[in-house]
Amino acid sequence: MTDTGERTYDVVVLGAGSTGENVADVVVKGGLSAVLVESELVGGECSYWACMPSKALLRGTEVLAEARAVDGARQAVTGEQDVAATLARRDSFTSHWDDSGQAEWVEGAGIDLVRGTGRLAGERTVVVTAADGSEVRLTARHAVAVCTGSVGTLPPLDGLADVAPWLAREATSAKEAPGRLLVLGGGYVGCEMATAWQALGSQVTVLQRGKRLLPRAEPQAAEAVTEALEAAGVDVRVGVEATAARRDGGEVVLTTSDGEVRGDELLIAVGRSARTADIGLDTVGLEPGEYLPVDDTLQVEGRPWLYGVGDVNGRQLLTHMGKYQARQAGAAIVARARGEEVDGAPWSPTAATADGSASPSVVFTTPQVASVGLTAAAAEEAELPHRVVEYPIGSVAGASLFADGYSGTAIAVVDTQREVLLGVTFVGPAVAELLHAATIAVAGEVPIARLWHAVPAYPTISEIWLRLLETWRDDD
Ligand SMILES: Cc1cc2nc3c(=O)[nH]c(=O)nc-3n(C[C@H](O)[C@H](O)[C@H](O)COP(=O)(O)OP(=O)(O)OC[C@H]3O[C@@H](n4cnc5c(N)ncnc54)[C@H](O)[C@@H]3O)c2cc1C
Repeated sequence: MTDTGERTYDVVVLGAGSTGENVADVVVKGGLSAVLVESELVGGECSYWACMPSKALLRGTEVLAEARAVDGARQAVTGEQDVAATLARRDSFTSHWDDSGQAEWVEGAGIDLVRGTGRLAGERTVVVTAADGSEVRLTARHAVAVCTGSVGTLPPLDGLADVAPWLAREATSAKEAPGRLLVLGGGYVGCEMATAWQALGSQVTVLQRGKRLLPRAEPQAAEAVTEALEAAGVDVRVGVEATAARRDGGEVVLTTSDGEVRGDELLIAVGRSARTADIGLDTVGLEPGEYLPVDDTLQVEGRPWLYGVGDVNGRQLLTHMGKYQARQAGAAIVARARGEEVDGAPWSPTAATADGSASPSVVFTTPQVASVGLTAAAAEEAELPHRVVEYPIGSVAGASLFADGYSGTAIAVVDTQREVLLGVTFVGPAVAELLHAATIAVAGEVPIARLWHAVPAYPTISEIWLRLLETWRDDD
């Protein structure tokens, strides 16, 4: 049915990624009416081109490494990873890029869905243009929440457009492994995709402009990931600047400060930009292409009816933090619609205050890097009084049982004045599931004296907590 005309809702949500879905859900549960506007697939980047397919590509490699690290199990692993089955499993996690399941959820949640490209057209108004050119004008009584996400950034490299490079979307949805894959950028997307495609049969080269991979992680973590990539056969080149790209027959040729590098495909993984270039920001006095400037209630400065939630505000480009912001923004919208006071204080139910200093993230390389809060370098930069406590995870009984020769490190950054954790990083096999305990300690600002009473079960890898506390005490 062609969707035309004008409609009014309490809340109009532009973009039905994981963030937009959650804003709409919270406001509807709070008694407001809401419509979601989506130009591509309901569920957004995470479901179809980011978290889910990338982790599905990586999981088999990780399981094999874990099995091969346990004598007795190792002998049972006699074959290699099945590439076709891995890609098929990835395809099932993306529902073969079909969003009907998520559209059904939207309907069941009592949220209206309008498919098409939405643009702001002045205050409280979004005009949606459908694929057939028809238009619908949506007016919001209380709020417009912009949740349009981010896009991969293309660096200004001579000739790049003619090369038809991969961005994360192509890297997570490719139907076969390229013979040689060049990866420009050594952040988490570059490192995860290098891990995945090297294991699935490509010869991968990673080119990183900076001094090391994972520049925002603790250096020990970056070192462990670099060593593992190299051991897997990846050619890691750091301190290399790319200046131009071209196709030579079927080959991609990158001109770099390290000479020419050739491959079959080029993945650009140098960062993300706000997806706001063409959403009508100019009609409300904002700069197209920029991240939306928001306060802790996710309200756009000077525009009380406008919210920017998730990747689009640039605060933390992570699904779980977008969903957290969505819960807080949704609650703020509902409270304001009821005429209630809303504040942006820490711990407020209507403000996102943990997405700065207590944000957790995992890099799903082999080994994994799981971190929350501040690194030692970030604490230094913030001029916070701190001490770094480090312990080899492999020395914990649970870890040595988990894998023969378990290799990993835990790094805790402790505030020496308040005696609370500012940040924690774990690097090693299967450390992702250790992270939430650290997140609770950091977000909850649990005093070190109290952490002694949170006793980890024996013999689990979680006993690393005990060793970190002992090291903190003994180094005093
Ligand atoms: C390769 C990769 C791996 C990642 N892995 C992880 C991970 O493991 N864990 C994690 O937490 N994060 C991960 N991320 C980050 C995560 O994908 C994003 O933080 C998350 O998807 C952001 O959600 P969002 O809803 O804010 O934006 P998006 O998911 O981008 O959703 C925005 C939606 O808005 C729609 N839209 C945009 N413009 C318009 C318009 N004008 N009209 C209508 N609709 C519009 C889009 O089609 C899209 O559906 C990864 C990212 C990448 C690139």
